[in-house]
Amino acid sequence: MKGVPLRVEIGPNECAEETATLVHRPDGETDTVERDGLADTVQEHLDTVHAKLYASAEETLEAGVREAESREEILGTIGQHGGYVRCGWCGAEACEEPIKSAIAAEIVMVPLDRDEEPVHEECAICGAEATETAYFARSY
Ligand SMILES: [Zn+2]
Repeated sequence: MKGVPLRVEIGPNECAEETATLVHRPDGETDTVERDGLADTVQEHLDTVHAKLYASAEETLEAGVREAESREEILGTIGQHGGYVRCGWCGAEACEEPIKSAIAAEIVMVPLDRDEEPVHEECAICGAEATETAYFARSY
């Protein structure tokens, strides 16, 4: 019952009617479908379940990201809320160090799309021009 993305139920009713009931894990949505072509139907439902799980993961991620524009803000925000802090970064490792040594948080992610403009114009730590967007979080 736990961790299975799509449950296929075949009980007495489904046996009599040559159907199957598909249950989506993320929201419990059910659909009773014909047994004919079940493999294709299951594939379609798995795609839907994947989309539901992805959307909910994206929501959780966005809710856990906060902005910061200075060293103090990075420290204060992570200290108070945990999660991720997004800020401008000049790209120098030296700018990660003051955060690391103060609260054991470090840059855990830099977006792969290097053509995208950084979220802020200045590096939150040194004030130089930001060339990247950095995500700070506590390291475990
Ligand atoms: Zn910097």
